[in-house]
Amino acid sequence: MTMRLVSGRRLSGAFVPMAVALAVLYSGCTSVESSDTDGASRASEADSVDLRYLGAAGWEISASSEVADSVVVLVDPYLTRAKYGAEASWDPMDTRPNYTRADTLFSDTDLIDAQIARADYILVQHAHPDHIMDVPYIAQRTGAVVIGHETTINIMRAYGIPAGQLITVRGGEDYDFGNVSIRVIPSLHSPLNDKRYYQSEVVEEGVQRPLRISELVEGGSLMYLVRIGGHEILTMGSMNFIEREVQGLRPDIALVGAAPSHLEITGYTPRLMEALGFPRVVIPTHADNFQAPYGSEIAYRTEWVEAFASEVRNASPGSHVLIPKHLEPIRLSLR
Ligand SMILES: [Zn+2]
Repeated sequence: MTMRLVSGRRLSGAFVPMAVALAVLYSGCTSVESSDTDGASRASEADSVDLRYLGAAGWEISASSEVADSVVVLVDPYLTRAKYGAEASWDPMDTRPNYTRADTLFSDTDLIDAQIARADYILVQHAHPDHIMDVPYIAQRTGAVVIGHETTINIMRAYGIPAGQLITVRGGEDYDFGNVSIRVIPSLHSPLNDKRYYQSEVVEEGVQRPLRISELVEGGSLMYLVRIGGHEILTMGSMNFIEREVQGLRPDIALVGAAPSHLEITGYTPRLMEALGFPRVVIPTHADNFQAPYGSEIAYRTEWVEAFASEVRNASPGSHVLIPKHLEPIRLSLR
């Protein structure tokens, strides 16, 4: 069995694969066996999965199949990329307003409308603004079902998302939705501030909109295993994990938190790679500058992702590390 990996650029809504495709053998061998320039043209929509990096910890994951309806799953979709927090991260060319923690954030609805055509499920990993801020608007516009912990769901209620669109989880659930199944995995937040970060607050039911940035608290952290289009994709929203909760999972695609706070964790990359059985494809996530808009010269943290990529190559030489660009589709096809 072969997995084809094709990355490409979306032009005028059409998927245009790049010239280079990689074929990764599934026969128990984890090394990249060959490169194949014909793979791009042969990659079909059937049993393939398309990923698109939205920045921060945000992803669009979609699949269509000859035997099942297409499905679109968003993970922590945060496209607004507002200027708040560390001024050092702001682009001097960015003329948008900046915010303090006492302010309310508003979604960039024009940008979201231009990028998000549809969503069936929105998975929220925790409720900090760079994860949850755009979820109420996207849920309201698309009718997507939002899955998250109690704090996430109470924030959705505050913004008027109907109960039928809300699924509250605590971690441990494994829910079958027909064309996709989703396992909810208890996790931990990044060890920010030299491991001094800790937040026990929750958002209670009955809170009123709009919420200030300071009111968007973590509320606990989750990861997800998304089974879709013949693939299993592990998502992460932070630079931490609970080893016993991921041990034995076998995702073929792992979206791994890669910002520098992961260096606070003992053996983060080798321990995670081994627990997951050395995934075929590893993609760094939550390692960009999400306070700079798409297209800004400082929108990426190239040095962070390159350092992480070399950790993966050392810990899991058979994994293919893919460094994503904002909004560019990546197609993975299982053959
Ligand atoms: Zn956070």
